[in-house]
Amino acid sequence: MVAVSKTRSAEEVLVVYNEGHRIFGENKAQEMRDKAAELPKDIEWHFIGHLQTNKVKYIAPFVALIHSIDSEKLLREVQKRAASNDRTIDVLLQMHIAKEEHKFGFSEAELDELLAKDLSAQFPNIRLRGLMGMATHTEDDAVIHAEFRELKTLFDLLSEAGSFDTEKPILSMGMSVDRDIAIAEGSTMVRIGTSLFGPRSY
Ligand SMILES: *Cc1c(COP(=O)(O)O)cnc(C)c1O
Repeated sequence: MVAVSKTRSAEEVLVVYNEGHRIFGENKAQEMRDKAAELPKDIEWHFIGHLQTNKVKYIAPFVALIHSIDSEKLLREVQKRAASNDRTIDVLLQMHIAKEEHKFGFSEAELDELLAKDLSAQFPNIRLRGLMGMATHTEDDAVIHAEFRELKTLFDLLSEAGSFDTEKPILSMGMSVDRDIAIAEGSTMVRIGTSLFGPRSY
């Protein structure tokens, strides 16, 4: 589980940290950089939101997993910043599974195009560990089940084909409202904010 700590203070994060949790997720690069500087160094910081290429530099020195690679341009920037920090950065590719235009991510056609390339040659400082997706925000559970199931099917196909650079591929799907459906459909990593910290006030 990723504890989604966006908008929460360092003190609030510490309460969860002191309960023993070590994986925290943020969706703003500068906010994540500032919290990482202030909080214990054994926290694994996951980036979970849309990442602008000009912000990659803020998180490249320490980020543990970027869930939200949604374009090849972003992947190229992460490669460049990983290399200049002398690191390998773990990433997930975000798939566009929702019936909502404003959500980010690759279509299956775009994914096929990317995976047809020799990724280890073009992105030597990146380790592709799996996929992430966000379901449509709807009361209709059947829609959410169907979207997560489609992503799981794709994930299984790619896992079997050896597309991921890891023994244990990650399928990041499910947040507070739809986590039970995501787990039922085979999620291996959920991203939980509200159910853990209470409602956010922006
Ligand atoms: C905010 C956020 C979450 C967590 O949402 P909650 O409803 O608070 O659990 C999960 N994933 C992403 C990408 C987010 O931006």
